[in-house]
Amino acid sequence: APFPLAIDPAARPARSVPADLAARLRAALPEGVVLTEEADRTAYLVEERSLYRGEAPIVLRPRSTEEVATAVRLCTEAGVAIVPQGGNTGLVGGTVSAAHEVLLSLGRMNRIEEVDPLNFTMTVQSGCVLADIQSAAEAADRLFPLSLGAQGSCQIGGNLASNAGGINVLRYGNARELTLGLEVVLADGRVWNGLRALHKDNTGYALKHLFIGSEGTLGIITRAVLKLFPRLTDRQVALCALNDPSDALTLLSMARGRAGEAVTAFELISSFALEIVERHTGGQTPFAGRHPLYALVELAGSDRDGTLRPAMESLLESAFEAGVVADAVIAESLDQAGNLWRLREGIPETQKKAGGSIKHDISVPVSRVPDFLRRAGEAVETAMPGVRICAFGHLGDGNIHYNLTQPEGMEKTAFLAQWERMNAVVHDIVAGLSGSISAEHGIGLLKAGELLRYKDPVEMDLMRRLRDALDPAHLLNPGKMMGRGGG
Ligand code: FAD
Repeated sequence: APFPLAIDPAARPARSVPADLAARLRAALPEGVVLTEEADRTAYLVEERSLYRGEAPIVLRPRSTEEVATAVRLCTEAGVAIVPQGGNTGLVGGTVSAAHEVLLSLGRMNRIEEVDPLNFTMTVQSGCVLADIQSAAEAADRLFPLSLGAQGSCQIGGNLASNAGGINVLRYGNARELTLGLEVVLADGRVWNGLRALHKDNTGYALKHLFIGSEGTLGIITRAVLKLFPRLTDRQVALCALNDPSDALTLLSMARGRAGEAVTAFELISSFALEIVERHTGGQTPFAGRHPLYALVELAGSDRDGTLRPAMESLLESAFEAGVVADAVIAESLDQAGNLWRLREGIPETQKKAGGSIKHDISVPVSRVPDFLRRAGEAVETAMPGVRICAFGHLGDGNIHYNLTQPEGMEKTAFLAQWERMNAVVHDIVAGLSGSISAEHGIGLLKAGELLRYKDPVEMDLMRRLRDALDPAHLLNPGKMMGRGGG
């Protein structure tokens, strides 16, 4: 019989894991699922940015939905909270566990169950690595367009739980738009089977959208039906040197006006961001001098008529004539296109080598990005003279990774101690422009305080009520997103 959803809301999680929980889990689950040895757990307790360290004394590695459901039921009965973990590449501390919590890794649920090229869908377990899903789609002459720097290790369950974005959102939307159906293990151990492969389904509330982007606080995603698209057979990539953010906006508008849906990516790269990539990777920009800003533009399509190359050339010609672009280069081969993309993709890694970073993942209406860059640039320089701005990201989505690198000569610890103060400087400007303090990375532990500061109180109240309805004892990833106070 299913465990009842109505858990006493007053029940608080046990402050330590009961001594017999590991034994009870071992008795109910196959060998190899329950890890308690420190050496076996360590890999699951580290965190991408090294800002936190997990402490869960038990790590679970189920292989099936039934095993997840059993694990959740036993933990819930014991009043022990569960932290779901996918590829552990999240950037906001969403998978960090406490000593009284159990960590549940989905990594062994990595089966691609079905590719249906005629329906343009794929059914997968949630622990599938994103790159494997992309490859399986390609093998069926289809495209799964979600694409981001961590795709070699992040998992589709983590992508969905954090509603990941990446470089193709402009054309295909983020993870939410790429999902048709979900299967979810609820807080009481019941399984919600919403695994429908329907392109149209108006039969009540779109429950899947509650779980997508919920960061493991409403349920554990175990399987998904994903949308596929026609495979792209032509790809044209150009790097453009620009003098001003408003030129980037004009170029984006020209590109979309002329090439429409063929604009798959439009990435902005600040001068400092490109400089550190060149310095630390040996990559090189194709331009003689420095420019204040660069845009990486990609046109891609499924037609084989070779229309995209002339479209890119004519776009750049017009942009030159209009004085919008100072210099530009179009990749002549796939290798060259890869080299241009590496300049963009190398930024997150090389930032670590350039010193400490205080990071912001913001979005504003696309038309207000130049305004944001100008205002934020002035404000951070006033707040911390000499701070170096490493801004890059998805201009087409109004999403800028506005990262601050420590001023030369400042101690890293002294710089990082300013994290909250500098967050407030940047996020106040974002709020003033009706933007978001987390465009694609989510809230996790890192931004729970910031969410409380900026989110509308009515919206917070609705979120808490949904949480109370689906996880009354707050045993799913507590403390993430709504902070300790909000469960
Ligand atoms: P995890 O980090 O394991 O988990 C993320 C959150 O989801 C946690 O709260 C976790 O509890 C929850 N969760 C995980 N699996 C499940 C599940 N099955 N059910 C319920 N909850 C679950 N993000 C972007 O959006 N766009 C980018 O362009 C981008 N680029 C990146 C580049 C690099 C180099 C790195 C390191 C990260 C980048 N990220 C980006 C952030 C990160 O990779 C994504 O957020 C990714 O979607 C997280 O997937 P994951 O499997 O690693 O999830």
